[in-house]
Amino acid sequence: MKRIPVGILGATGAVGQRFVQLLENHSYFEITDLCASERSAGKSYKDVVLWRLPTKLPANAANLEVKTCEANTGAKVVFSGLDSTVAGEIEENFARAGYAVISNSKNHRMDSDVPLLIGEVNPDQIKLIEFQKKRFGGDGFIVTNPNCTTVGLAMVLKPLDEAFGVERVVMTSMQALSGAGYPGVSALDAVDNVVPYIEDEEEKVEVEPLKLLGKVYGNEVKFASFKIDAHCNRVSVRDGHTETLSIGFKKRVTTTQVTRVLKNFRGLPQKLGLPSAPKEPIVVVEEANRPQPVLDRDINGGMSIIVGRIRESNVLDINLVLLVHNTIRGAAGAAILNAELLKARGII
Ligand code: NAP
Repeated sequence: MKRIPVGILGATGAVGQRFVQLLENHSYFEITDLCASERSAGKSYKDVVLWRLPTKLPANAANLEVKTCEANTGAKVVFSGLDSTVAGEIEENFARAGYAVISNSKNHRMDSDVPLLIGEVNPDQIKLIEFQKKRFGGDGFIVTNPNCTTVGLAMVLKPLDEAFGVERVVMTSMQALSGAGYPGVSALDAVDNVVPYIEDEEEKVEVEPLKLLGKVYGNEVKFASFKIDAHCNRVSVRDGHTETLSIGFKKRVTTTQVTRVLKNFRGLPQKLGLPSAPKEPIVVVEEANRPQPVLDRDINGGMSIIVGRIRESNVLDINLVLLVHNTIRGAAGAAILNAELLKARGII
């Protein structure tokens, strides 16, 4: 099959590097353009990137010349891992110029005609693209994936909401350092410490699941109406966000029912057999002391949400722990799966 040329905006960052790594031998997509700031432009990728991943810098990217983020790349599909201070305007420029923009950044997630998409959770939001194309006056559009903490939360809440009706959620996160990009949190703040504040994070995590689990009516999404309290903390872990959840449901539930619903959850990416779709979107681990980031974050290539410690709550109904690989399922892997779904639907 002829592969689709793709570009990466923000290719030098933590998420951009994951794109380069995950797209190295992709069966649908081939990297042809790498873009970043003026600081990096004009040099070969290998000379400007501070490669922080434990695999070799892919040869197909190493010698590409990094460009600035102008909407004149040969590739008509671009993945964005841009810093949010610049992502809003740059992504919109690309969409207006007719490009398909598959973004990780927060800037357009809440735009009413922009899908906030997880293939397993809400593929119906793809319908919004038609309205966006009209707004941009061409073939260009933006599709976003949620915040890295939201992805784990929404994937677990979706099947539980369908089965039992979610009413209330209290979520406490222990978020990895790579979630702050590179170089991110200073070592003196990170080591031997927990930072109980991540700017804007709780606001995003409290609202994004409501759009993800909402319903599409015409050109907009009616948000789900349950309530979420989020407490977000930065901890000294390299990759992998851990979240503890207490969930209240409309119906009475048992831990056995919750376990069964989570284990049996499958979505459209699994049905279509998309290349990045994990066989099991949610893996339930039985050991009392799991999931743990260092042991479990790479299960199924970092694309599954790992759930454990499902037990009764004294305050709400059910408690559990989940783990999401923040730069794979929480960022680059999620965007690549979205692009695969758009290709399978004939949109790119
Ligand atoms: P990062 O490591 O700081 O990388 C930022 C990227 O943006 C770099 O490639 C940088 O290029 C580029 N950039 C900065 N200023 C620019 C400008 N003026 N013009 C063009 N490019 C510019 O950040 P990150 O952690 O990869 O995050 C990227 C985005 O993904 C953010 O919006 C973040 O919120 C989101 N996200 C991150 C995660 C995660 O786990 N890290 C998860 C989900 C979503 P230079 O190297 O040339 O400066």
